[in-house]
Amino acid sequence: MSAIARVLFLKSPSSVSPKTLQRIASSSTTSSSSSTSSLLKRGRARTQTQQTKTPKTRTMASTPKNDEQLNAQEAILKGMQDSTEPTIFDKIVSKEIPATVLYEDNLAMAFKDVNPVAKTHFLVIPKIKAGLSQLSKANEDHKMLLGHCMYVAQMVAKQEKLEKGFRVVINDGVDGCQSVYHLHLHVIGGQQLSWPPGC
Ligand code: AMP
Repeated sequence: MSAIARVLFLKSPSSVSPKTLQRIASSSTTSSSSSTSSLLKRGRARTQTQQTKTPKTRTMASTPKNDEQLNAQEAILKGMQDSTEPTIFDKIVSKEIPATVLYEDNLAMAFKDVNPVAKTHFLVIPKIKAGLSQLSKANEDHKMLLGHCMYVAQMVAKQEKLEKGFRVVINDGVDGCQSVYHLHLHVIGGQQLSWPPGC
């Protein structure tokens, strides 16, 4: 990663378009992954030192404030948004990566989130991504699959005894803190949740 790219990212990551970030990432030298990781370490250090400051402008708000925002920006930086490579969730579907699977049919799978944010936290994914890297990529052809994932979400919620309620969340894109570009529904519950979610 060139010095210019680092400055661009560290100065104002979200003011750089995803395409520019991808071009930067793909034009990296062989040491790109270590450069990326040092870049992210610097980003994290910067995040920690800036946590006490209140963001006032769009640019300041784009500075990662926590790991979720940083992961989302890392995904963009690595070009994962438009990647055709198998996602980590494809690898869970193919059993290449282990997961605690709660439900599976021919279209969808539900498994526990590895980093739960509530007592119960599972994800529902379409088994075949079918272009649905994120919700905003949905078209008419996806309606049935999207409906099915919603149906599975409530079915597994019942199975997990979330009878007092639960929340379904879909993070979309960098502003939505999406880090895995394979559509997924977060289902969280098992405790009293608060509202609104973090803004
Ligand atoms: P998002 O940030 O909305 O894209 O959510 C991605 C979610 O995937 C996060 O909550 C992660 O904790 C979760 N996750 C990432 N890798 C795995 C994995 N191998 N098994 C289960 N959940 C995972």
